[in-house]
Amino acid sequence: MGLEEKLPAGFALTTVEQVVGLARKSSMWPATFGLACCAIEMMSAGGPDYDIARFGMEKFGATPRQADLMIVAGRVSQKMAPVLRQVYDQMPEPKWVIAMGVCASSGGMFNNYAIVQGVDHIVPVDMYLPGCPPRPEMLLDAVLKLHDKVQNTKLGAHREQEIAETEERMLRRSLPLVDKD
Ligand code: SF4
Repeated sequence: MGLEEKLPAGFALTTVEQVVGLARKSSMWPATFGLACCAIEMMSAGGPDYDIARFGMEKFGATPRQADLMIVAGRVSQKMAPVLRQVYDQMPEPKWVIAMGVCASSGGMFNNYAIVQGVDHIVPVDMYLPGCPPRPEMLLDAVLKLHDKVQNTKLGAHREQEIAETEERMLRRSLPLVDKD
């Protein structure tokens, strides 16, 4: 259990959430994880034309221990899957994943036994990015959407309440229709 689970609910927690969200989204460091052709577009996003440094994200770390964002750029082979999972496990919490391109998101055109049919079989994915390859602008758009998500993440009692409400909603949705007559 982390410190954030012990935070009391109420007005103060809402303020803490906003400050923590701002700090987290403004200091997101990606782990270096280029797997195939999509990685070239990811590298372009770090260049002067697209300048991902504007968002404080220019440090693509070679060590997962100081990274909190994994951009899976390219197809994931069955052989690479355990390595990817190990890198993910070595990243500290909280951490986020972007599946960049159709190959990482769903296997894409590589519908065969050698390629994992979506990296969400290996790690939880926060953002799916379509395209083959997605342009650096699309990656920046996904990053900004992820920043919004991080900014609005609930903590402590608010998070527990949000999870309970989501579970309730999903349960209601999955209940079979009952004819009252
Ligand atoms: S989505 Fe296209 S560009 Fe990206 S890894 Fe697959 S084939 Fe390559």
